[in-house]
Amino acid sequence: MAEAALIDGKAFAQALRARVGEYAAAFAHQAGRRPGLAVVLVGDDPASQVYVGAKGKACAAAGMASFEHRLPADTSEAALLSLIERLNQDEAVDGILVQLPLPGQLDEQAIIAAINPDKDVDGFHIINAGRLAVGQTGFVPCTPLGCIMLLKDRLGDLSGLEAVVIGRSNIVGKPMAQLLTEANATVTIAHSRTRNLPEVVRRADIVVAAVGRPEMVRGDWIKPGATVIDVGINRLPPEPGKDRGRLVGDVAFAEALEVAGAITPVPGGVGPMTIAVLLRNTLIAAYAHAGMPAPEGL
Ligand code: NDP
Repeated sequence: MAEAALIDGKAFAQALRARVGEYAAAFAHQAGRRPGLAVVLVGDDPASQVYVGAKGKACAAAGMASFEHRLPADTSEAALLSLIERLNQDEAVDGILVQLPLPGQLDEQAIIAAINPDKDVDGFHIINAGRLAVGQTGFVPCTPLGCIMLLKDRLGDLSGLEAVVIGRSNIVGKPMAQLLTEANATVTIAHSRTRNLPEVVRRADIVVAAVGRPEMVRGDWIKPGATVIDVGINRLPPEPGKDRGRLVGDVAFAEALEVAGAITPVPGGVGPMTIAVLLRNTLIAAYAHAGMPAPEGL
């Protein structure tokens, strides 16, 4: 059988970012201001600093305003809530993102709940989770929305396809399963208590792996021709003589390549979609905030 096609998330994300950039310029022309994203980082977690820096740069590249708020690790909940309230009221701010995880003294649920749901471009607020659950328009978490975009681009109509989502987190697994259900796939959610996981995965026309375990999904779990979306980002221990280990997904890529019909690589698959969708969500928030109809085709 031929090797699987690679799903080029990097190219798809670049195209999406270019479209967002064009619309952001049109928005700025009409509204007299740029779409604005406020990013809040508490503490100095190195990975979070990299993500926040990348989000700021991506905003600038798309012609959006980025407002970074870097707070010390010992910030009190009252101080963070008061910043969020200011951002909720700020007319220049269309989207608010609080970088997770937060230091232990801060209650993540309470912080997310304080964000105006119409500025919750990460889609983590329970109002947006509820909107997704009942099929209303709202903000959908960026990573699963990026995955469904890649799947629809690759497969077109997903109606009737068997999909297995491995992982049930609130930010990836659950919304992914809901998006696939909305797209008329027949969806199974697998997790750490699932029995006979390889057999469950073998049923799937679409496999979405969001586990956080390096190369857990083996090639012989994959149905021949299936489409595999690997959300996992795991760094292996460094090889001798190297400073950093390789990044791998939750799927054993080389094995899956022999069996799948199409697969996302790690890196260069799902990862780049997350920021591109964040920009898209911010643009949509900006149009709604300004009382203007959002453009089609985003
Ligand atoms: P979580 O740790 O929140 O969730 C992991 C899920 O995997 C849980 O539902 C857990 O099950 C399940 N799981 C754990 N072990 C097994 C197992 N042995 N068999 C089956 N299921 C298992 O992770 P996230 O959802 O936040 O992230 C998942 C992965 O995606 C990570 O690698 C993360 O780095 C990556 N990620 C990538 C993003 C991107 O931009 N590309 C964005 C977000 C995440 P249970 O519920 O039973 O514990």
